[in-house]
Amino acid sequence: MEGNPKLRLLSYAVILYMLMAFAWWSVLLFVKNKDAFEAKSEYYKLIMVAKHETKNIEDYYNSPLYTELATKYKRQEYMISGEGIVFILSLIIGIWMINRGYHKEVQLAQQKRNFLLSISHELKSPLSSIRLILETIQKRSLTQEQINKLTSNGIHENDRLNTLVNNLLIATRMETNYIPVYESIQLNEIVAEIIEHFKITEPDFEFVFQIDPNMKCIKAEKTGLVSVINNLIENAVKYSKENKKIIVEIQQDHQNTIIKVLDNGIGITDQEKKNVFNRFYRIGNEDTRETKGTGLGLYIVKQIVLAHGGKVYIKDYKPTGSIFVVELPINKT
Ligand code: ADP
Repeated sequence: MEGNPKLRLLSYAVILYMLMAFAWWSVLLFVKNKDAFEAKSEYYKLIMVAKHETKNIEDYYNSPLYTELATKYKRQEYMISGEGIVFILSLIIGIWMINRGYHKEVQLAQQKRNFLLSISHELKSPLSSIRLILETIQKRSLTQEQINKLTSNGIHENDRLNTLVNNLLIATRMETNYIPVYESIQLNEIVAEIIEHFKITEPDFEFVFQIDPNMKCIKAEKTGLVSVINNLIENAVKYSKENKKIIVEIQQDHQNTIIKVLDNGIGITDQEKKNVFNRFYRIGNEDTRETKGTGLGLYIVKQIVLAHGGKVYIKDYKPTGSIFVVELPINKT
């Protein structure tokens, strides 16, 4: 409907017509009820006069017959008003719910369209880069240093492709009731390994890893947690153009294992903090967005964390940037 203003206008016109028609029928019902009351009252009055039960008009208005008729008339008026209000409220709530559901559908369809556009780009661009690198190595005589640089670029592109395919596979797993396969893992070692990898692929960035020295082994799904940490660090890299420092913190208290990824990047507004965990959701639109992505990363992060019985949320990092906090309960992990 969003892309079709005529249809939107037509539906608003139909809704307006329904409301106006209803208002008109209500007024008519009031008038007819009043007419019926007056006619009946007149009829009773004539009967009473004919039977000489009343001397003047005042007597009639004080008679039990008239009082009963007037009470009945009032009750009917209240009934019409009450039912009218209930009907109008149900109509408005119904229209609002249909509208909300429809908007959600339209938004999801739009996000899916964006996802397909992004995914074709995300798949094609590393593939063509890797091809170009291989052709350059094949055709030109290069120094060892040049070859090293090209191969590390190739590995970087390959990693991008790998993360994307992993995300797609995990997202598909999420569709069919995802249950983590728990194992005993040393989170410190896993995170250290991931950070070492990022240090190689993102040489412009400074990575700081703050570990809790008393950290105990936790029970979690290794591939799931690797995906969570990879996605969070990858986003921190993607959305930090100026201040390229990323801090990863791991702490443990008696209830939770807490993983924090802090960046000095563009930050996320309060309105968007909840939305970014939705499937295919990306801030902004395809024309204004500078970074490429699929909108799957944070959806996967959230689903994996929830499946582990934990929670994930975002805080602001001052003066700019975001802090992604993952809390995994100890009793589960
Ligand atoms: P994408 O593939 O677009 O990065 P994600 O699901 O990982 O998908 O993230 C959803 C959106 O959340 C991103 O498009 C981006 O707008 C925003 N976002 C995620 N991480 C960060 C971050 N560290 N800083 C600022 N914005 C972020």
